[in-house]
Amino acid sequence: MTERLYLVDCYIQDFAAIIKEILPTGIILDRSAFYPESGGQLGDQGKLKTENLEIIVKNTRQQRGKLIHEVETIEGLEVGIEIKGELNWVRRYQMMRAHTAQHCISRFFQINYSAETVSNKLKTSINRIDLSPLSKLSLEELNEIAAQINKLISSNMPVSISFLPRKEAINFLRDKEYQTQYLGMVPKSVKEFRIISINNYDWAACAGTHVQNTSEIGYITFEKTVNKGKLRERIYYSVS
Ligand SMILES: [Zn+2]
Repeated sequence: MTERLYLVDCYIQDFAAIIKEILPTGIILDRSAFYPESGGQLGDQGKLKTENLEIIVKNTRQQRGKLIHEVETIEGLEVGIEIKGELNWVRRYQMMRAHTAQHCISRFFQINYSAETVSNKLKTSINRIDLSPLSKLSLEELNEIAAQINKLISSNMPVSISFLPRKEAINFLRDKEYQTQYLGMVPKSVKEFRIISINNYDWAACAGTHVQNTSEIGYITFEKTVNKGKLRERIYYSVS
């Protein structure tokens, strides 16, 4: 099982690790800062380096609990050797900003429109959130909402990571109006939940990567909305 360094510290850009397993499709390490594609967030890209080799990591994904670094080639690699991992930090940091923005946007719509986030997808440029129940919003209304969220995120709200035992986490999040019904679907083998708190504004169970302070998000712009069925709106946003 790979020790997932990003769970405790999202700012690790490079790290040393040992190759534990080589699959036809990728490399498994004893520890890694690479985030695997999940929860609407793209998998990390970057490089694995040895003294003589530099191998491109095209994507990171998880399969049956394994964290797989999909590499361009496995040639020259051996189980047991030490490598240095390096993230494509520009891409990852953009993802962290967009992901933290998603928490803020989701919470804003929950408080002000009683709309829950039913899915989300982060990209390197335009991101999207599906909200329900929500009726079509005018462009004027969307711009006003963006202004209010931008005011919130520019107020330097700290973002923190904590870990709570499963039952305690569910009770805590229920008190905070988080959609705890989905947490029951998490395999029972998961004994502890990772909680992302944004000051006294938002709390969520999330394994993704986030910035430490909302001021790092920058500026949110809503690009467009698309109706995705009865009272379900898809909102596209970017951070700059
Ligand atoms: Zn998150």
